[in-house]
Amino acid sequence: MNRCLYRTVRNLSRFTNKMQTFKLTDYDAYGFDLDHTLAKYKLVPLMRLCYESACDAIINNSGYDSKLKDDIETHKDFLCKGLFLDADKGNVVKLSHDGKILRASHGTKIMSQEELTAAYGKDLHWEHFNEAKMNVKSCGEILLNLQAGGPQEKYTFWEHVYDALNLNFQPKAFSDNSGWFFPVLKTDPQKYVQASSDGVKQWLRDLKQKNKCVFLMTSSAVDFASMTAEAALGPDWKSYFDLCLFNARKPGFFTDNNPFVSLDGVKENEKVSDLQPNNCYSKGNLSDLMKYISKQTGKDKPKVVYFGDSLCSDSFPANKFASWDVVLVLEEMEAEGYHPTVKDLECDDDKEDGEPAQKRKKRNVNLDIDSEEEHYLLSDMWGSFFYHEEEDIKHDKHMNTFWGRIISHYNAIAVPTIEYIAGMPISHQYQRFGSEVGNTDGFSPAKPKPLLT
Ligand SMILES: [Mg+2]
Repeated sequence: MNRCLYRTVRNLSRFTNKMQTFKLTDYDAYGFDLDHTLAKYKLVPLMRLCYESACDAIINNSGYDSKLKDDIETHKDFLCKGLFLDADKGNVVKLSHDGKILRASHGTKIMSQEELTAAYGKDLHWEHFNEAKMNVKSCGEILLNLQAGGPQEKYTFWEHVYDALNLNFQPKAFSDNSGWFFPVLKTDPQKYVQASSDGVKQWLRDLKQKNKCVFLMTSSAVDFASMTAEAALGPDWKSYFDLCLFNARKPGFFTDNNPFVSLDGVKENEKVSDLQPNNCYSKGNLSDLMKYISKQTGKDKPKVVYFGDSLCSDSFPANKFASWDVVLVLEEMEAEGYHPTVKDLECDDDKEDGEPAQKRKKRNVNLDIDSEEEHYLLSDMWGSFFYHEEEDIKHDKHMNTFWGRIISHYNAIAVPTIEYIAGMPISHQYQRFGSEVGNTDGFSPAKPKPLLT
């Protein structure tokens, strides 16, 4: 393409992107994930508990040396969202949007360029990139050290790690009070879950209007989810929703045809296909949920927006299989340099509900941040979640990491916390992510620092 034509196409695409806006009042139904979305966790105590419970499980269940469990503080720079695990080679890798290995560690030690080339070849392309892209599956935060010792042909101890995670996080561990995670969490939920502000509660009430539908949909089982929802929203948490859905098995909820199951307290009862308002259900599928939303809103094709934090379980399937728009709640935005303040809530929207902006009663939200939390979210070792400078050949500050591409592709907008969006007028107009790979227009109130030109 000649340079002139390239510029025209590029300017045209910028112009088109500017036209793409997002407004909550345009939707008929508002769906919410619970963990890390409506229920904001206090990340430092939570990460500490995840790490310690994983160590306890692997030591006690698989007979590892108790020295494996040391202070997570020592490893906090190693913790980073969105890394992949090359289990056979014992490596943790960070990927670019097109499958190149940007950085890798063997165990917790960063690999040199020579070690990278020896393991992955000159082009550093990860052989499992296409599978990763298909499954959008991350190994998440790797909390365990690899056992000491030199590189091996193939590492096989991951099954012990998997067993440990399963022991701690299988849903029945909550009711059985087994494993090393739930028994501790249950003793003091408020230590791990942040109480929502009055502003968030008011915002949920404001969304719940005639011919609109507000629903909770979480993959957590009803017993665990009830505890976290109460810790976040108080004992009357169910009153904020027209429908509460548990054990939703996302992303399978969007593609499989599991029937909904009625609940008697925390006990699963019988299969149902006709959902009733002000009720709780377990499992379920997209088609029956859409029938319910259609009936409640009186719309043949209701417009749904879903709020979630997981790119794999929320954004990707909700957008791809249900054509819902997604608001991504992304704590890394805040950690990577942009803290929303009261000033960000002062937007120039003319009116909401007929009231001039200056007279409008503001919802009282909580924008405080925990600086210790930031240290756990940021990683010098791995760099930005969104951007890798060495790969930015065009110097246009588009997102060029694996997850950066997923963010712009499957989400309408991204916000750092529910508290921020709850403080904005419901009729506020946001700019959406554009269609180019790694577009950054949809971050609100502003782009994370590494993406600023
Ligand atoms: Mg979640």
